[in-house]
Amino acid sequence: MGWVARQIVFGVGNPDADLMFVGEAPGADEDIQGIPFVGRAGQLLTKIIEAIGLKREDVYIANVIKCRPPQNRNPEPDEVETCEPFLFQQSRHHQAESHRGARDVRRAERCCERSIRISRLRGRVYEYRGAKLIPTFHPAYLLRNPASKRDVWEDMKVVEGDSTQSEK
Ligand code: URA
Repeated sequence: MGWVARQIVFGVGNPDADLMFVGEAPGADEDIQGIPFVGRAGQLLTKIIEAIGLKREDVYIANVIKCRPPQNRNPEPDEVETCEPFLFQQSRHHQAESHRGARDVRRAERCCERSIRISRLRGRVYEYRGAKLIPTFHPAYLLRNPASKRDVWEDMKVVEGDSTQSEK
């Protein structure tokens, strides 16, 4: 199959958190450390989490795919299907904020114009296995397209409002 992943990158953070961030798949840094979102995109994700008044340890962070795909290629549909049951278990306790996930988003994932599709999907709150799902741009995309940070901030305000409500 050509997979050269060093290890499984499962998830990190508070397993009882109300809020979960879901990425696509581990990259090279994550593959080395065995922890999701520790590279450049991960550092930006940490800043995004802090911008809504939380710390990385307060939320749960995982990826749809649990092993780094060769050359960071896009995950194949059968790989998503194989890893998805683990994500279902991981997301049981959380309200999912997601860069990827849910049926609609998965459909977007299977097409090549992912960022275009995410831009169509974002701005709405979806239902995902009993949790709320808020699709937003991936931090790696933001590193290349900083102008989209404004949209992510709008999405994070929705996340923030929602977690304040669930504390009440
Ligand atoms: N990109 C992802 O989607 N996940 C990571 O863990 C790192 C980069």
